[in-house]
Amino acid sequence: MKIVRVDSRVDDITYGAVEPEGIRLHLGSPFVAWEPTETVVAWDEVKLLAPVIPTKVIAVGRNYVDHAKEFDNKIPEEPLLFLKPPTSVIGPLQAIRIPKESSNVHHEAEMAIVVGKVARDVRIEDAGSYILGLTAANDVTARDLQRSDGQWTRAKGFDTFCPLGPAIDTNLDPLEGLQVTCRVNGELRQSGSTADMVFGVSELLSYASSIMTLLPGDVILTGTPAGVGPITAGDKVEVEIERIGVLMNTVVAR
Ligand code: ZN
Repeated sequence: MKIVRVDSRVDDITYGAVEPEGIRLHLGSPFVAWEPTETVVAWDEVKLLAPVIPTKVIAVGRNYVDHAKEFDNKIPEEPLLFLKPPTSVIGPLQAIRIPKESSNVHHEAEMAIVVGKVARDVRIEDAGSYILGLTAANDVTARDLQRSDGQWTRAKGFDTFCPLGPAIDTNLDPLEGLQVTCRVNGELRQSGSTADMVFGVSELLSYASSIMTLLPGDVILTGTPAGVGPITAGDKVEVEIERIGVLMNTVVAR
C-alpha cells in the first residue's frame, strides 16, 4: 500500500491510500487505527502534504562509501547520527528556501524509514515490525556552514531543509536494493542503490532505538550516495526512490 497525507478539504481527513482511480480517504491514521471511507479523490483535487509529522528526524552521515570518499571522510565504525528539527520538514511541491547565511546549499537524495510504533532497544532481527514503510527524502544541507560550524545543527536545520514524500510505501522489503537518484532541472546528479548502504535499515532503526525512544511517525534518513551538489533559486530538484516515487521541490531565495 502507498499512504499519502493530503489537504483534502473534506472535514479534517488527511490520510489516504493510493488506488488506481485516485486517493481513497481514510478516517484515523495508519499509526493508531484507520478505516477506508467511500470517498476517492483525484490527485488534482488535493494538496499533497509531507506524509508524516515526525517528532524528530534522525539522519545518518557517511552511510555510502562513495559519498564518504567524495569529501575524504572515513567510513564510520558505528552509524554517525544527527538530528534535523521537525520544523525542517516540507511536503512535495513545496519550496526549499535558500537562507541568506549560506552560499553553498546542497541536495542529498535519501531513502527514509517511517517508524510505525514506539520503539526502544529494538533488536536488529525485530526491527522490521517497527517500520510502517519507506519514503523519499532530501537532506538539504548548507555545506559551507557544515564545515565552518564544526557541527551540523545549523547546516541541516533550516526551515524547509527536509522535503519528505510523496508517499509511504508499506510493501517494500528494505533488504532489497532500491535505486536512489537525484535530478536537478532534469540533469542526473546522484545515482546509487540502497544495497550499498554501510548500515542497513534494520541496523539503523535498532541503533537509533538504543539511544532514544522512537515514536510513531518519526523518520530516519538513511544517508546519501555520491554526487551531492549545489542547488540555487529557480532550480527544480527531484529525488526518486525506485518504486516509491518522485519527490519534487522547487528552490527559492529566502
Ligand atoms: Zn544526508
